[in-house]
Amino acid sequence: MPSENIAVKSIVRCRPLLADETSHGCKNIVKIAGNKVVVDANGKENSYGLDGIYVSDVNNSVIYKENCDSLLHRALEGYNVGLLAFGATNAGKTYLMVGNNQDEGIIPQLCNNLYTQINQRSNKEFFITVSYLEVLDGEMMDLLNPHTNEMKIREHPNKGIYVDGLSELVCHNQDELKMYFDQGTRARKMAASDMKAHRTRAHSIFNINIEQKEKQSSKVGIRSTITLADLAGCEVQDADADTLQRAETQAILNVITALADSKKKGGHVPFRDSKITRLLQEMLSGNTITMMLAVVSPADKCYKQTLSTLEHAQMIRNV
Ligand code: ADP
Ligand code: MG
Repeated sequence: MPSENIAVKSIVRCRPLLADETSHGCKNIVKIAGNKVVVDANGKENSYGLDGIYVSDVNNSVIYKENCDSLLHRALEGYNVGLLAFGATNAGKTYLMVGNNQDEGIIPQLCNNLYTQINQRSNKEFFITVSYLEVLDGEMMDLLNPHTNEMKIREHPNKGIYVDGLSELVCHNQDELKMYFDQGTRARKMAASDMKAHRTRAHSIFNINIEQKEKQSSKVGIRSTITLADLAGCEVQDADADTLQRAETQAILNVITALADSKKKGGHVPFRDSKITRLLQEMLSGNTITMMLAVVSPADKCYKQTLSTLEHAQMIRNV
């Protein structure tokens, strides 16, 4: 894998007000001004400069084309790349990553385009595998195989951090890739409807592993991974919030803060504090071309969450 010191990029997606927010009298407090996103909170304007700003009625396909397609190309050049959606519950993270039939999310679009690209490289051989993991309250679940138990996070000198025991399924074409993604996403939805809190607290990570080599060559091929993460809701902790439940996401925000600080002053980054930060360690520490997708609601009642998400998005940009 080529090495390069790459800055983390951050973009923001703010969805339109939902019908029930409008009917409850919520106001839209998020707008674009020049190259900044501006949040009008209690009469004070807070503005944030980010690498891309998508407010109101913007299709997922626009966000995909302007930000993610180039990452797919980097992955095919052999770089590890990652897309990480974070923000409060109900802000629209899963809508952006998974989408629906009218507005396909980033992951299905990336899956389609991966095979379009592969089919254009007839001089090369590709070997694609996927895994789909969920982390809930510190427990890992294999979304592609309900019978997997015994999973362990390990570190390999070449492979880096990986989950021992997690199913890695081979994909021969676009349909198989889509099928596995849909299968894992259905397993997520089922778990979420069984337990309401699940939707808020679960992180999911879909990994696409790419191995490629020249067809006529005996040289070893190159490997790269595309990591697509949909994080648990990172709610600002109110005094009455269930803090234990939010520990994992708080750990991510702590890592983002610590990374930004250590860049300035040098220091310890607490990756080992939780499973999710350990799993995303390489993504957050410079070995991966990472794009942070900060997802926010436009509603005035969510202003605390919105400010917190945007502050973190801006902070990690400098890492
Ligand atoms: P999260 O995953 O952040 O908890 P969801 O993706 O489930 O949030 O979105 C919450 C609600 O908002 C859903 O009903 C979803 O359909 C709607 N929604 C999210 N983003 C958009 C968007 N860009 N356009 C229209 N509706 C959206
Ligand atoms: Mg979600």
